[in-house]
Amino acid sequence: MNPKKEVYLDYAATSPVADEVLGAMEPYFSVHFGNPSSIYSRGLEARTAVGESRKTIASFLGTTADTIFFMSGGTESINTAIFGAARKHKEYGNHIITTAIEHKAVLNSLKALEKEGFEVTYLPVDKHGLVTAQQIMGAITNKTLLISIMYANNEIGSIEPIADIGKEILKFKKHNESIYPLFHTDACQATNYLDMHVEKLHADLLSFNGSKMNGPKGCGVLYMRRGVKIEQMIYGGSQEFGFRAGTEDVPSIVGMAKAVELIMQNGEKNANKVRKLRDYFWEETQRAVPKIMLNGPALEDTDKRLPNNLHISILDIEGEALLLYLDEKGIMCSTGSACNSSSLEPSHVLTECGLPYEYAHGTLRFTLGASTTKEEIDYVIDHLPGVVEKLRKMSPVNLEIDHTDNTHAQYHQK
Ligand SMILES: *Cc1c(COP(=O)(O)O)cnc(C)c1O
Repeated sequence: MNPKKEVYLDYAATSPVADEVLGAMEPYFSVHFGNPSSIYSRGLEARTAVGESRKTIASFLGTTADTIFFMSGGTESINTAIFGAARKHKEYGNHIITTAIEHKAVLNSLKALEKEGFEVTYLPVDKHGLVTAQQIMGAITNKTLLISIMYANNEIGSIEPIADIGKEILKFKKHNESIYPLFHTDACQATNYLDMHVEKLHADLLSFNGSKMNGPKGCGVLYMRRGVKIEQMIYGGSQEFGFRAGTEDVPSIVGMAKAVELIMQNGEKNANKVRKLRDYFWEETQRAVPKIMLNGPALEDTDKRLPNNLHISILDIEGEALLLYLDEKGIMCSTGSACNSSSLEPSHVLTECGLPYEYAHGTLRFTLGASTTKEEIDYVIDHLPGVVEKLRKMSPVNLEIDHTDNTHAQYHQK
């Protein structure tokens, strides 16, 4: 019997550890297991590995190793950036600017700060999930200590104009001869495909993780510009220049450096490959499935949308049901955001983009990776139309949609 066919198209949720990455990590679980803080040779091996990895990651960001701090994931990096900046600089002001479509790691950190008396402006996005530098500059007050804008959205793949935003903020700071506002970007979805040079982005703080770039899960990086001071979150030993205590996760750190090396080698090639496949996927799906719609920026707008993201609405169907039927065929994708999969509420990102309720319910997010093949896409194209048809027949409208709710009537004018 053939093993069950499996097609993984959820790379925005997490990605498999690349073979080269696993190979680089393995010795640091076994032979080189030392604690980087130990001064005998086994400790030195580990310390050297951490140091070399820090340099590799610094070169990926176009910066120096002293600005790179290893953490336990995107979430910790983001929490550190946001809470650390807020607590250190609260004397200056209590105002923070962000967008309404950030990842929960950002939004829930800010919700917690609101309880401590901080004021947060959640900027609206256009129907493609984009903000402008002008919007952000218009929201700055003399109390704005921090601006946190995601580089690329995890659901619809929209790419925010971080370099423009950074440039405008820098101009503002120079003009006012001030270090405020600090600028943080959540770059967790950006690492594989976008320019990560912090001098081009003008970011003071930047977060990303291993999980989304064919590296290990449970590890991340916080870039902190030299001279920028924020409060630390984890107290203890003097690791990470005394800023983040705890014995280093040496295998993960080595793994992230290897993952970054692979991106520096193959990033552009991979971007072109997944873009081509993704565009083909959408063309064929459009042909085969009636009443569907693309969400997020147009696929042609290559500077506004991640090349591996396809986010669609399929009318008259519950996304969760579709997901489970596809899983039966071995096809793994997402209804929107992995973090929302336990709730049936439409995602905040889609409602913020003004998507009508019935469109926001029947959504699927396919995200491709470097190892995705045309055969895999063809397999999905072969099975998706049948599954959609079956579900539509079973229950023409089995959703509990309140059709009297027309709060999204303005959508088409947006
Ligand atoms: C995955 C992700 C995070 C959280 O990262 P973890 O490593 O899971 O903590 C934060 N922001 C974005 C945009 C993400 O995609």
